Amino acid sequence: MGGLVLGLCLKKYASDVRFDIYESAAKLTEVGAGVALSPRIWTIMQELGLEEELVKVTGAVDRAGSDLLFRKGDEAKVIDIVRFHQLHMFHRSMLQRILAEKLDATDRIHFSKRLTSYSEPTSPTEPIVLNFKDGTTATCDIVIGSDGIRSSVRRTMFANLSDESERHGRIEEASRFRAMVEPIWSGHVTYRGLVPASDLSEELRQFASTPQILCGKDRHIVLYPVSGGELVNVVSSVYTLGSGTVYDGPWVETTTSEKVAKLCEGFIPNGVALIKSMREPLCWALHTVPKLTTYIKGRSALIGDAAHAMVPFQGAGLGQAIEDGFVLANILAHSSVALANVSEALKIYDDVRRPFSQTVQQGSECTGELYQLRRAGWENISVEDSAAGRYPPELLSDFEKDAKAQMEWQYDPGASIKGDIAKVLSMLETLSAQ
Ligand SMILES: Cc1cc2nc3c(=O)[nH]c(=O)nc-3n(C[C@H](O)[C@H](O)[C@H](O)COP(=O)(O)OP(=O)(O)OC[C@H]3O[C@@H](n4cnc5c(N)ncnc54)[C@H](O)[C@@H]3O)c2cc1C
Repeated sequence: MGGLVLGLCLKKYASDVRFDIYESAAKLTEVGAGVALSPRIWTIMQELGLEEELVKVTGAVDRAGSDLLFRKGDEAKVIDIVRFHQLHMFHRSMLQRILAEKLDATDRIHFSKRLTSYSEPTSPTEPIVLNFKDGTTATCDIVIGSDGIRSSVRRTMFANLSDESERHGRIEEASRFRAMVEPIWSGHVTYRGLVPASDLSEELRQFASTPQILCGKDRHIVLYPVSGGELVNVVSSVYTLGSGTVYDGPWVETTTSEKVAKLCEGFIPNGVALIKSMREPLCWALHTVPKLTTYIKGRSALIGDAAHAMVPFQGAGLGQAIEDGFVLANILAHSSVALANVSEALKIYDDVRRPFSQTVQQGSECTGELYQLRRAGWENISVEDSAAGRYPPELLSDFEKDAKAQMEWQYDPGASIKGDIAKVLSMLETLSAQ
């Protein structure tokens, strides 16, 4: 989806830039799951003229979006902690369909094209050669890797950086670059699935109509309605101690709702009942991309999960891919940017987007600790203590403060990407003066 949004932004802001999207799959597919967009990202959707169509598929009664409620959900009675406003929630495939329809560029999306590597040009104007698994090649002036957590563009970029360092005798630097190719196991296992609302009792349907996060010791459950309330997106995450080790098994596999319900024992009955109702849940061993030292090299750049795949606890990964595409397209659209200086212009993208997205990447980890009651003060509270309400009550006020501090960048009405665009434009002025 990051690639589709970049295409849309290029179409709107940089109509003289010809782009082609190479996709390894034979057609556009998506996991059966939900995805939520925060107010900060919603402003980009509005800028792109997508609001009308998107609101239609959420089925929301008004365009302001829904509230998201954080609750302590592992005691006999649920405790409301804090509420955020204006979240927009989608079935992923519907969001993707709208992005693809709006892009309206079937001739520019090339399916069954798995990139394996690309060649580094030796001069500022020499084309980059893209190599595909099927033996074919294509050429371009700029390659943007929007190819997800196992990105081939990242692999080539960091292998090249590493080789260069090695050639200059900087052996430690070379091995640091090599370490940035492979994703890291986060220690979190997430179970996600959809529940048809028609399978639920009236009481459960009512309960599930409120987007909410049920927090509990070492586990949490996220649930929100999608597709106009016809489906409920249910995600349960469990913390294991395996972070930093190598995950020995498939990253995504099928599981059963009974197995997931077992892991969520002790949560409020409505939460467990929704878990038991999940259809064909998938188990995800969550991986992340290491903190990269750069998102660019020459005329190549990384966006989205390829650059900063993160744990999903701020619901921000796709939003960050969208911000990357928005900023990058605004850079490429600028009148001072041409083939001869595009690598300089990409440095502005790296300067603006890398610190921000890496702060979100890091923040998402902390938010996981918050949801799973693993932050300072909770260390000695066991699952049983938490369930029995045996913890200092001020820990819930701390939770509220922490949640606001961690999430306000997405929800604060003043939090806008327009400031970043202004910064980019002023940096581009310096570029044109060079
Ligand atoms: C449980 C969970 C819940 C989440 N919830 C949210 C949420 O609520 N809000 C949010 O903003 N984010 C959320 N995210 C994160 C979000 O899903 C990702 O950050 C987002 O999908 C990244 O988009 P992307 O386009 O960068 O990469 P991807 O979605 O991974 O897309 C990469 C594309 O590249 C293609 N590809 C891969 N390799 C190649 C190759 N070599 N050649 C050609 N094509 C290739 C793939 O087929 C795919 O189409 C969640 C993630 C998880 C796991």
